[in-house]
Amino acid sequence: MTFEPWRRLWKTWAPQKCKFFLWLAIKNRCWTADGLARRRLDHPDRCPLCDQEEEDVQHLLSICVVARKVWFQVLNSLNLGAAAPRNRERSFAEWWRKSLQKVDKDNRKGVNSLILLTAWCIWRHRNACAFEGVSPSAATIFHEVKNEYGLWCMAGAKKLEVVGHGGRFLS
Ligand SMILES: [Zn+2]
Repeated sequence: MTFEPWRRLWKTWAPQKCKFFLWLAIKNRCWTADGLARRRLDHPDRCPLCDQEEEDVQHLLSICVVARKVWFQVLNSLNLGAAAPRNRERSFAEWWRKSLQKVDKDNRKGVNSLILLTAWCIWRHRNACAFEGVSPSAATIFHEVKNEYGLWCMAGAKKLEVVGHGGRFLS
């Protein structure tokens, strides 16, 4: 693992809890099914979002068909659809690095915040599906991304606000 994702992660505007989650995710230390299985704990047989493949956090964040739908919706609404994860990304960190190459330099900081925000919403929805019996839905996650975007902008995420065209993303 190179130094680079950590530097980018800690420099991005996002609440500390989201950065910490992504830090664990990149290190494969989240409580997804693979980690639970390694510890011989109860775990879902398949990803709680797509119900198709075994779950690990790289699947959940960048490979899962439900997650990819969300990434496409979020990024495409900012005309960045080309940066969305493709079929069979290797890992979240690898996709993140590649996707930034498709983003204008001026917008990268804002897009980094948006990527953390979206990953956070995917994770929260995954937990709601796994523990609260919520039905998985890309539309619900997209809705939560827009809500969270409003909150982060209010809390001072200036570059994120610029990338979201000052709230037009919300409409
Ligand atoms: Zn999945």
